[in-house]
Amino acid sequence: MKTLQNLIGGIWEDSRGDAFHDVVNPATEEVVARCPSGSPEDVRLAVDAAVRAQPAWAALTVAERVERLSQWADTIAAHADELAEIECREMGKPVALGTAFIGGAAMGFKAAAAEALEYAFEETVPAPDGGSTTIVRAPLGATAVIVPWNFPVPMTLGALGPLLAAGNTVVLKPSERSPMSAVRLLELMDLPPGVVNLVLGDSRAGAPLVADERVGLVHFTGSVESGRKVGERTGALLRRSILELGGKDPVVVDAGVDPVATAAAVAFGAFANSGQICTSMERVYVHRDVAEPFIEALVEAAGTYALGDGHDAGTVLGPLVDRRQRDIVARHVADAVSRGATVRAGGVVPEGRGFFYPATVLTGVDESMLVMTEETFGPIAPVVVVSSFEEGLERASASRFGLAATVYTADPAHMAAARRIPAGVVWVNQWQGGGPERLYEPAGDSGMGATGSRAAYDAATRPTSIHTAPAA
Ligand code: NAD
Repeated sequence: MKTLQNLIGGIWEDSRGDAFHDVVNPATEEVVARCPSGSPEDVRLAVDAAVRAQPAWAALTVAERVERLSQWADTIAAHADELAEIECREMGKPVALGTAFIGGAAMGFKAAAAEALEYAFEETVPAPDGGSTTIVRAPLGATAVIVPWNFPVPMTLGALGPLLAAGNTVVLKPSERSPMSAVRLLELMDLPPGVVNLVLGDSRAGAPLVADERVGLVHFTGSVESGRKVGERTGALLRRSILELGGKDPVVVDAGVDPVATAAAVAFGAFANSGQICTSMERVYVHRDVAEPFIEALVEAAGTYALGDGHDAGTVLGPLVDRRQRDIVARHVADAVSRGATVRAGGVVPEGRGFFYPATVLTGVDESMLVMTEETFGPIAPVVVVSSFEEGLERASASRFGLAATVYTADPAHMAAARRIPAGVVWVNQWQGGGPERLYEPAGDSGMGATGSRAAYDAATRPTSIHTAPAA
């Protein structure tokens, strides 16, 4: 069985720690790798390497860095299917879905890095006294990227692009549940030693990384619970963090929409990647005028999400990442049923190997149920029938989370009203779409720190203003 290694200063090394855990293929329950569980010594050495490599990386011109990153992006895109196959083995995502997301993420990485060419790392403006002010935005130095298991490669690339293009170096810590794709991603890397370092492990690696005061920024993607701990630590150190956390995203389906087409879109939003997307639709509010045909079509759509090993071409829905995650999903459904919800599709743990859970539609749900208040992270669509669009919007907005929200409506006034839902992203008549001009900050408990396009460069740099007096 292969034991995974860290990458420190360009050298693949065994962990200095003595704790290891198994990585398990969730479709077959077979052990596919042995992973270090993390040690502070690994982290210290990785940060050392990132600190050492940073001045030379920052000394390259922006165009040189962008060129290097662009080449790496092309290599990743050319290996998208291989990386997707690894993701499938470590966390269950169907290979076709993984390939599409990784290909898209590689192009997104390239585009985000190229934005550095337009970003004002230095600008001089005249001062009222006849002198000038020069604003220099310098990289932060060594930074940390901590990612979850649900989109291992895309989440990593999303965080890395602007940090690296701005001249920072990185210590990457992937999830202990999906470390294999990160190893392969960095094997494919063609950047100078120490520019990206890899430390494997769980919070035993994550916590010391966040606590290292040489780390100028922690870009953390994960649960609210862990994000809160990271924020407390970086706050105490007076270091910067971007926290992209969990959600309980609503979708509001208005009267006047095509109920069948909208149900197909909502099925994809709720069930894709087995519901393990931070912006999965987890609460469905449907107007009573279209409720009946919408629910009927949603139930029918759920039946088409064929469960299976993500390596099989016919599989639409892979397993959940592990037994722990499936237990959460089953508990949420059982809680809803015990409080009066009706299972219209799915809702039963299949027999046999693998941590599968079927696409599930629940009706008769309300906000007393876990499935409507806590992040489920499973293929569950709980549907509430509302008597007006306004009621749907209000109930959609009444959540401690605020990651993203979706509205389907044909009414222009209701399209405009969609922005009232407090969230970092609001989609109208689409889900997951949008151009490169992405600027967002999650609301409520879903995180903090604006990012996307220019904001990602603002976060990756620190401005200094140099005021020069007028010439004597
Ligand atoms: P998690 O919080 O358990 O772990 C995320 C990462 O943080 C892992 O690498 C983990 O090892 C590390 N970690 C855990 N405790 C830590 C600590 N104390 N200090 C430092 N690092 C620590 O989350 P998960 O279960 O891996 O991922 C699922 C969660 O991620 C869901 O809540 C999902 O909504 C969220 N998510 C959010 C986004 C987003 O963009 N907002 C994207 C994807 C996933």
